Amino acid sequence: MQHGWQGAVIKALRGRDFTLEVLSAQDVGGRCRRVRVRDGGLLAACPPHPTMWVRLWFSDGGRPHQRAFTVVDPDPAAGSFDLEFALHDGVAAAWSLAARPGDRLDATVYGTRFDPLPEPVRRLHLVGDPASLPAVNSVLDAHAGTPATVVLEEGHPDDRALPVRARACHDVTWVPRGEGAAAGGALVDRVRSGWADADARADWFWLGCEAASTRALVRHLRRELGVPKERVSALGYWRDEA
Ligand SMILES: Cc1cc2nc3c(=O)[nH]c(=O)nc-3n(C[C@H](O)[C@H](O)[C@H](O)COP(=O)(O)OP(=O)(O)OC[C@H]3O[C@@H](n4cnc5c(N)ncnc54)[C@H](O)[C@@H]3O)c2cc1C
Repeated sequence: MQHGWQGAVIKALRGRDFTLEVLSAQDVGGRCRRVRVRDGGLLAACPPHPTMWVRLWFSDGGRPHQRAFTVVDPDPAAGSFDLEFALHDGVAAAWSLAARPGDRLDATVYGTRFDPLPEPVRRLHLVGDPASLPAVNSVLDAHAGTPATVVLEEGHPDDRALPVRARACHDVTWVPRGEGAAAGGALVDRVRSGWADADARADWFWLGCEAASTRALVRHLRRELGVPKERVSALGYWRDEA
């Protein structure tokens, strides 16, 4: 499909294009859809790293609709990986529900990176939600023996059934998102109070939640707690347009 002006800009910036092919699709609980894809050479050209994400191109009434999704359980030898779609009312989410073996999907790799954690790392503090859970899980897999505090925001009580790859040294808490003007407030409050025990010079912070919540939490980390920027990795994963 044509990628429009966004595609032209990313191409000029040396984004790399691939065509994925759906191998299988399955529900994970009632609120997530997992789609396994053949990678079209993507993993051989772009070796995977924790939190790796790709830009996927969907059609929205014929117009290009580009959204970011995390590469889950990449298998470079087999040339395949999973995509996990948190379900809500959106074009990408709807595509995942309709996906069937043989369907094709364009993907562009541009902008994904994961810097080595600064030494020392006493504890990880991870903040996410169903959209960033694949990335959170990839960090937990990569740091299976490092103590971690994980706070996840649920949009629905069923989200708690989503698979979190926590080990014995990983402490996981779910917080309801809430609704209306209060949406996101409980997560921000819970995370801020949990950080009272954080060590700004020895801990590492990863944030991937709704954009306004992510911004509020980064501000708190940097301005109130004085955490150096190399100890913070943050990206708004979605924007609440309700
Ligand atoms: C680096 C990165 C990696 C990501 N990886 C994943 C991933 O692996 N799996 C995943 O599910 N998402 C992931 N996301 C988030 C995903 O890109 C967004 O949720 C995207 O908006 C979904 O597109 P859509 O077409 O379904 O909905 P859109 O057309 O963008 O939005 C439609 C409506 O749905 C609402 N909405 C969008 N996303 C959400 C959400 N997550 N929860 C509740 N409401 C929402 C919007 O506010 C809007 O009202 C990632 C984002 C980033 C930045």
